[in-house]
This record gives sequence, C-alpha cells and structure tokens, in this order.
Amino acid sequence: MTSPSTSGSHIFPRHTKAVLPTVARGEGVYLYDSTGKQYFDGSGGAAVSCLGHGDPEVTAAIKAQLDKVAFAHTSFFTSEPAEQLADKLVAHAPAGIDRVYLVSGGSEAMEAALKLARQYFLEIGQPERRRIIARRQSYHGNTLGALATGGNLWRREPFAPLMIETTHISPCYAYRGRQEGESAFDYGQRVANELEAEIERLGPETVMAFVAEPVVGATAGAVPPVAGYFKRIREICDRHGVLLILDEVMCGMGRTGSLFACEQDGVAPDITATAKGLGAGYQPIGAMMCSGLIYDAIAQGSGFFQHGHTYVGHPTAAAASLAVLTKLTDGGLAERSRVMGDKLQAALEAEFGQHPHIGDIRGRGLFRGIEVVEDRETKRPFAPERAVHKALKKATFEAGLCCYPMGGTVDGQNGDHILLAPPFILEDGHIDEIVSKLSIAFGQVL
Ligand code: PMP
Repeated sequence: MTSPSTSGSHIFPRHTKAVLPTVARGEGVYLYDSTGKQYFDGSGGAAVSCLGHGDPEVTAAIKAQLDKVAFAHTSFFTSEPAEQLADKLVAHAPAGIDRVYLVSGGSEAMEAALKLARQYFLEIGQPERRRIIARRQSYHGNTLGALATGGNLWRREPFAPLMIETTHISPCYAYRGRQEGESAFDYGQRVANELEAEIERLGPETVMAFVAEPVVGATAGAVPPVAGYFKRIREICDRHGVLLILDEVMCGMGRTGSLFACEQDGVAPDITATAKGLGAGYQPIGAMMCSGLIYDAIAQGSGFFQHGHTYVGHPTAAAASLAVLTKLTDGGLAERSRVMGDKLQAALEAEFGQHPHIGDIRGRGLFRGIEVVEDRETKRPFAPERAVHKALKKATFEAGLCCYPMGGTVDGQNGDHILLAPPFILEDGHIDEIVSKLSIAFGQVL
C-alpha cells in the first residue's frame, strides 16, 4: 500500500511533520545540504561523528575490507578486523575488562550487557539475582530492556506495561541536586548512598546490576559526576555482589577526553557498553565489554553466551572501527578532545557565563552541555509549553549549526539544554564559529 506522507516521502522519520533538508555531502566538521548550505556539525549528529566527515583513512579501511570480504557470519568465521579491534579495545580498556562482544549499536550493546549480567548470575548459581537499579533522568537505549533500564519518563511511559522490572535512584546532578552549604563531595556521597538503601530495600540477593552513564548525555546534557561519586558506587556494588554496568555509548571513545569516560573517575566497571564514536558514523557498530571473571564463569559453565544478532562482529564495521580507534588512540585524538574541550568550555563561559538565561555550562572534553533557565537565580526552568529547546534547535540550524537540544524532564527536575559534541578535529577558529552561531540563536530565542 502506498500513501502520501506529509512531506511526500516514504521514509519513516522521527518527526513525521518535519520536512528536512537532504544531506548531500560532508567534509571535516561541515555537512552540506542539497542546496549547498553549510552546517557546522556541532553535535556530531548525536555525539557520533568524532572524526568529522570524509576521513580518508577510515574510508580507505572500509573499501579495503569490502574488497576482501564484506560479511561472514560469526557462527562460521572470525575475521581479522574483528580480532584486531577487540585486541585494541582491551589494550585500552579499564582494568579487568578483557572480553569484547561486537554489535551494531548502543541499544544492542546495552541489551547484551543486561543479558550477560543475568546469565552470569545463573551460571554462578544465584538465579534470584534479577533486579536492575538505574538512575532517574537516564537513557540507555530504545529496545525494551534498555528502555526499561533508562529513567526517562517521557520515553518509557507508552511502553511501561511491556517492561522488565527496574527501579531508579537519583542521578548525580550537582547543578540541581546539591543542597545549600553541602560540598560537592558530600553531595556525591549522599546520592551514591541511595544505591545502598535501594539494594537493601530490594534485598541484596535479588539485585543483579546497577547501571549508569559516567557522564550523562541524552537526558540531561553532558552532566559529569562529582569527585568520589563513582568510587562510592563501586564500593557499594562490591559490598553487595552487584555488577556495575557503565553505559559509555555516548560518553565513551574519547568524547570526554579519555578513551573511556570512567577512567577519569578512577573506577572500572564489570561490564561496559560503547557505540557511537566507536564507528564515528562510518559504520554502525557498538561493543559490549566485560571482565574476565564474568567471561570465565560462562566459559567454564554452559560455555555459551545465550545471545546473538546476525551482524555481531561484522567485518566491514569492525574494519572501520579499527581505523577510528587507531586515530583516537595512536593518533592522539582522544587527548585532543580533552584539550579542545577545555578551550570550548572557556569560550562558552566567556561569552555566556553571565547570560541571564544560561544556568549552567558543563561537561568534559568535547562533550559540553548548556542548560537554559527562565530565572538564573532560582534555576527555574522555562515552562515546558514554551518548548525552548525546539526553538533553539530551529534557530541554531538556521544559523548553520547542528546541536542537540533537549527539553526539560517531565518531572520538572531539569531545564531545556543543548548538547555540544563536535568532531575532535576541530580547530580554534571553529570554537569561535560555534560561539557566534549560538549567540545568534540565543539572541533570537532567549
Ligand atoms: N545509551 C546511551 C547513553 C545513549 O546515549 C544511546 C543513544 N543516544 C544509547 C544507549 C542507544 O544507542 P543506539 O541509539 O545506538 O541504539
């Protein structure tokens, strides 16, 4: 059956009423539409394009792999790029992480992480451990398991009846959560301790995993934890035999200035998921990684991870990712994200630090969030009906800047915000360009 959509397109877009420009090409930090208009890719799509567009080395690696073999199923073969990618990921991974399961994206990596945690407890004879604790204002993917884990009410609500059981504690969100007179450290300990209370409430013997993003992306706009928070979380997980799953789908792969975001918090997870920057948009790829302890329990138990999608370990995606990872590590681009990120923060603060409607400018590396508020003193967000984030998206896009704006949460606990996640190859002049385009948009909307 054919039926005309509003835009005359048969593609099923997310915003069915929007008529979008057609992307024609990409070069470096810029995208161009079919009319020739140039856009600065200030969010790397959704924190994906960490190398920018048209990278010749990644493109060459993909072509070379296509010339050899595009795809072979992992039930028959392994492949050189998949093996090399896994070796390189492990060589740079947090302590104890030494196995890699390659998938096609972030939600898939999170599903694999949750299922692996469950299977681990079955293998070691603790079948009653099935409960997941995560945090409010979190997003872990759009498949049912990952969606159930996330605490984003708006995304969860329609599908809640289909979901597995999870409970949520407070996020570590100092701008809004820290109380008058409370030190950042004490605040972090207080919200981390909610995990212990929740584990005890549920019964430690029933809790499987705690899931969190080291630096929160899609729901709150580049919110880093305060010092000491994740160390306390790690202690609590260890004390109760609960696995720590860190979702680095958005904040990993150098986005925050270190290859894995959790490195900066001095903790290692039991299981982690990464995607987005892993393929830098050149191929769809994600990875779930786990400790040798978990892997061994399964290897010495049933011997088989009861999971699998057709494109697991896809050779062409792995070849692209290997080229990306080489640039992030050996090529120093993850480190460049840290250096340029500090410059971006300084430039944003210099220009907007005193703006009456800018409440907070935050983040790590080239992962920066700007939270806009109606009242800077009280931190009161704009009324949701004003949809300030939508107006900002429109105004920035018209000014030729792609950024990733998000609305406040429905529970009113945060305001509209913009996420900046530009390619790591950006130069100093590009920072000025971001700031001046934001200035135009803020002038029109705020
Ligand atoms: N986890 C986090 C933290 C994410 O930001 C996202 C995507 N925005 C996902 C999981 C899901 O990844 P994907 O869209 O690739 O399935």
